[in-house]
Amino acid sequence: MRPLAIFGGTFDPVHLGHLSVAWEASELLDAEVRLMPASVPPHRPAPLANARQRVDMLRAALKNQSRLTLDTRELERSGPSYTIDTLAELRAEQGDRPLVLLMGADAFAGLPSWHRWQALFEVAHIGVLSRPGVETVLPDALLSETAHRRVDEAALLRGSPAGKVIELSVTPLEISATRIRELLAEGRDPRYLLPCGLFDDPAILAPYRKA
Ligand code: ATP
Repeated sequence: MRPLAIFGGTFDPVHLGHLSVAWEASELLDAEVRLMPASVPPHRPAPLANARQRVDMLRAALKNQSRLTLDTRELERSGPSYTIDTLAELRAEQGDRPLVLLMGADAFAGLPSWHRWQALFEVAHIGVLSRPGVETVLPDALLSETAHRRVDEAALLRGSPAGKVIELSVTPLEISATRIRELLAEGRDPRYLLPCGLFDDPAILAPYRKA
């Protein structure tokens, strides 16, 4: 069965790093990839753009293609959005279909701080995306939980619904939302770091510009 891959994040704002790695992951895994914006990230400061604005940016970014889609379920839920709850919900909907949680190498290194992180392997595989320019020392707890789960071939993820870890060598792009927010706050125009659809309406990037 074609896997379903989930790429969660704050997307504050969505940038070409997100889109490019998600696109390549979809090719490497031959998977449907859904971008899933988080509402109240439990482990980080509140986004500058509200949920509605981040969805508008994602919709503008995803126009004119069908490989990457948007799933807004976490924004519709009240309270903090824990990935384990979202994946359990998807598991109930998708039966035995392989689920793959995609995350950048930096996010993967921080996995042990996530709510019930070890339970994630019961409901999904994890696909780790190359990300340059970030510290990626893997903590011991993560190394011991994942050593026996590692696979090299994407096809092996199809043989089971969950429980494996794969490194996906996507084109490294050193782009971060933090840097883009800084540039916009300085009054600069990071045009070619962002999807062009974000420039169609000048109001779309207003949350990041200084008044
Ligand atoms: P911020 O700078 O605000 O922390 P970010 O650019 O890291 O934002 P997020 O929305 O926090 O973006 O990231 C969502 C997911 O996308 C995370 O798993 C993160 O590791 C991954 N990611 C973001 N940018 C890249 C990139 N350039 N290459 C690979 N993965 C990325």
